[in-house]
Amino acid sequence: MADQIVVRSSSVSAFKACPTRFKLQYLDGLVSDKETEATRMGTNWHALQEVYRIAESVELGTGLDKACEHLDERYSEKPIHVEDADWEREKTVLVYSFIGYLWYWQNDVVETLATEYGFTLPLHHPLTGLPLRTEEVVRNGTIDKIIRRNGLISVADYKSTSRSIDADSQFWGHLRLDTQISMYIMALQELKAEGELAQFGVRSDEVVVGAFYDVWHKPTIRPKMLTQKDTAALLETNTYLGESVTAEHVREWDEETKDEKGKTVVVHHHHVTLDGVDAVVKPGKKGFAVQETARMYGIRLLQDIQDRPAFYFARREIPRTQKDITDFRAQLYNVYQSMKTMRDNGHFFQNERQCEATFHCPYIPICYAGVDISDGFTPEGMKREITTLTIEGQETYD
Ligand code: SF4
Repeated sequence: MADQIVVRSSSVSAFKACPTRFKLQYLDGLVSDKETEATRMGTNWHALQEVYRIAESVELGTGLDKACEHLDERYSEKPIHVEDADWEREKTVLVYSFIGYLWYWQNDVVETLATEYGFTLPLHHPLTGLPLRTEEVVRNGTIDKIIRRNGLISVADYKSTSRSIDADSQFWGHLRLDTQISMYIMALQELKAEGELAQFGVRSDEVVVGAFYDVWHKPTIRPKMLTQKDTAALLETNTYLGESVTAEHVREWDEETKDEKGKTVVVHHHHVTLDGVDAVVKPGKKGFAVQETARMYGIRLLQDIQDRPAFYFARREIPRTQKDITDFRAQLYNVYQSMKTMRDNGHFFQNERQCEATFHCPYIPICYAGVDISDGFTPEGMKREITTLTIEGQETYD
């Protein structure tokens, strides 16, 4: 259905930020061919939760092993543009943060009623309440989870963020306006009214109250070099922050070399292994220092999580009143009308204030250089997810 506009929370957010971004992504189907670290970590954080939940429902006590196995598989092949150290750090952060997450929320039980629940619903006129023709527009989305917690029905989402999640941070205030939350609550209320949620055990007297946000703040601490003093202690005790680490000083030797002025100098080298793997060693005046391995970094991260869990994890109900939903219904209708108008007249304005706002827009190379993609040209570094294009009223290819 070439003329149908599919209204998704992500396409609405893109349109509100910059109509050209919406056009490039959702009408032209252009997306970056490189996955960002933030996207990959968000996806893998979701996957950890899901694999854990399914494994635990089959056999209690197997969830963490299955989740780690899944992560091993996801990180078995490194993209060419990612550094080895960053790849290893990313996986370590996910594993140890997930262990910390399970520890922190062990007594806060969430009953999952459905996962990955997809919906396609009509868009309604805000004044008449009548549905618009589905040949022209539909609402579409996939709700991460439908849950019951403390007797309340909610849509639930796991989020990962680099922003502060302190109780008084703007992170929470901003969710008051969040398109995805409003869209999913509105959809769930409609589905419940139609009796669609009875299949998941939702009773007719239960109400959809809002969204349940389960947020993970990504760590800001990074792998580090130990001090020379801590390196000496590690080699002596074979322990790091209370955990056993096999540290061995294998050998040391001198090497004659030239400094930047051409003067001969002697560098004293040390070969050290940590848990059987060669360590990164930095010679110093009074000895030498080693770099944390991924496991040692994970041990320090887990300790930090236990020391200040509220920095890393937060859960909150995000409510929506009936007035919020009524207002959102009108907002969605107006956004759709704007999308349609711009599509039909062939002009989408650019919002130059969004190009480098909270993140660098992936379409900067197109917009800044004025690249013409109207003939189906796919710029370097991009790929097309939609392969049907309409140019001057003619479908060009499938
Ligand atoms: S680069 Fe700027 S103008 Fe172009 S799509 Fe992105 S935000 Fe819009």
